[in-house]
Amino acid sequence: MDEKKNRGPSNINDSVTPLNFIEQIIQEDIRAGKNNGRVHTRFPPEPNGYLHIGHAKAIYLDFGSAEKFGGKCNLRFDDTNPIKEETEFVESIKEDIHWLGFDWEDREFHASDYFDKLYEFAIDLIKRGLAYVDDQSSEEIAAQKGTPTKAGIESPYRNRDIEENLDLFTRMNNGEFDEGSHVLRAKIDMASPNMHMRDPVIYRIIKREHHRTGNKWQVYPMYDFAHGQCDYFEGITHSLCTLEFEVHRPLYDWLVDRLKTGDYRPRQIEFNRLNLTYTVMSKRKLQELVMLKLVSGWDDPRMPTLSGLRRRGYTPEAIIKFIRSIGYTKFEAINDVALLEHAVRDDLNLKAPRVFVVLDPVKLVITNYPEDRIEEMEIINNPEDESMGSRSVPFCSELYIEKDDFMENPPGKYFRLGPGREVRLKGAYIIKCTGFNKNESTGEIEEIYCTYDPETRSGGPAANRRVKGTLHWVSARHAEDAEVRLYDRLFNHHDPAGQKNHDFKEFLNPESLKILNFCKIEPSLSEAKPLDKFQFQRIGYFCVDKDSIPGSLIFNRTVPLRDTWEKVAKK
Ligand code: ATP
Ligand code: MG
Repeated sequence: MDEKKNRGPSNINDSVTPLNFIEQIIQEDIRAGKNNGRVHTRFPPEPNGYLHIGHAKAIYLDFGSAEKFGGKCNLRFDDTNPIKEETEFVESIKEDIHWLGFDWEDREFHASDYFDKLYEFAIDLIKRGLAYVDDQSSEEIAAQKGTPTKAGIESPYRNRDIEENLDLFTRMNNGEFDEGSHVLRAKIDMASPNMHMRDPVIYRIIKREHHRTGNKWQVYPMYDFAHGQCDYFEGITHSLCTLEFEVHRPLYDWLVDRLKTGDYRPRQIEFNRLNLTYTVMSKRKLQELVMLKLVSGWDDPRMPTLSGLRRRGYTPEAIIKFIRSIGYTKFEAINDVALLEHAVRDDLNLKAPRVFVVLDPVKLVITNYPEDRIEEMEIINNPEDESMGSRSVPFCSELYIEKDDFMENPPGKYFRLGPGREVRLKGAYIIKCTGFNKNESTGEIEEIYCTYDPETRSGGPAANRRVKGTLHWVSARHAEDAEVRLYDRLFNHHDPAGQKNHDFKEFLNPESLKILNFCKIEPSLSEAKPLDKFQFQRIGYFCVDKDSIPGSLIFNRTVPLRDTWEKVAKK
């Protein structure tokens, strides 16, 4: 086995991070000798959409805690509902889990693998007088449910005899009845304070082809009837899920207790979901954005999906670092997306080579620099990591700089270029602005003129002469054009899904994508490949888009830099 692959990118076995409350429970279970000290978890996605960063929180816990205690984690697709599932989703889910750095080895399962066993268990419950077929409609059943403080009403079919129940359930599965005409219910307690225990529906008729079992079944188990039993069949010891399942736990236990034979039993423990500001985190809402083409797809770089974050340039290490930093609790919360962005910057700061890209170019001509001369400037790739080496960047008399790095009438604290002012061109010379050419009708600056000080190059006699501002640049004769996509938050409300009387889509940020078509990139970037990551100096972190082809590169902005050089210089 490839040990590294299973370990995840984050060094799960670190001894520094204290155990979270779930890991403490697991540790106590091991000490108490429960399940012979085994630890076996599972990650149970429903293949009805792409994974989002909330799922990463569950994945890290499921795979991470198993590994911490020398156990195993299964991947189990919860495909109990044939209406919503698609093979595309199964494939994307597997790709995303691997990308995060986790592996289920040969343990890929599907709830549908257990349809026979679940059916047998349902028959067994009927035979024990613990389940019955109800001929009422879902509306009638709902009307009899009662309220948390008022007991429900027993169904007139509740005390049907066993033979009749067996006959009806078999005929339900033979396709003799219409969808919605009959259901199988567990016979528990219509007066239970827990509504989930009031004779829950455990099987319903669905006459649809299933993506794995085809037309074999006409009845399908409800989630609650599948999950705990699948855990049991797989030998799962700790079934970790989000807080909304807490109220389902008595039913989980009731069913497993009627299934189990020996001492072993799986145990469900709940933790708080990940919610992030300025986004939505439910597959149903994400699907809506995709279907309505409000984003370009599940992997649109503005989506909180793992495929979207990957395309945007986020790294699995940054995501996991973020998840570790927020931890696991029993309380619902909403986490600030700035925390995630911070983790991404931290990670890319160490990994991303620095390059020069001018997003909004204006020509700058150095009038005292020989027109036919080209110098190769040796520029280090990452001051945080010497081992990343250096590259040479061509310099000549015609360059591009950012339009907003020049002002005709700059205010006092503007440390960039203006008439008569000096700045350093990063990795090259100090220049002084001697004039500019302005299009009088548009007011636009078309060309800037400067002289350079030959002694100020690195290694030169005046290399250490200080000026306040430093600008990035590219050689106009060597630069290539590229498209740059500036992504911003998809929503302009911190909690778009939580606003009463408002649809979350009302809060879509109309400025979440700005496309720049004529950016100038330094020549070394022409070799860049999809998913390569860079820091565009003074601008932010960028990642080559997956649809990029050589000669026509597209860069996605991962996250802007928090501080620009001027701000640092001001201190
Ligand atoms: P959604 O509400 O987005 O559709 P889900 O809970 O229906 O999510 P599943 O595919 O059923 O999605 O989830 C698989 C696992 O991931 C479950 O154990 C679930 O508890 C967990 N999970 C889902 N969303 C989150 C989240 N936001 N934070 C943490 N865990 C999550
Ligand atoms: Mg679900």
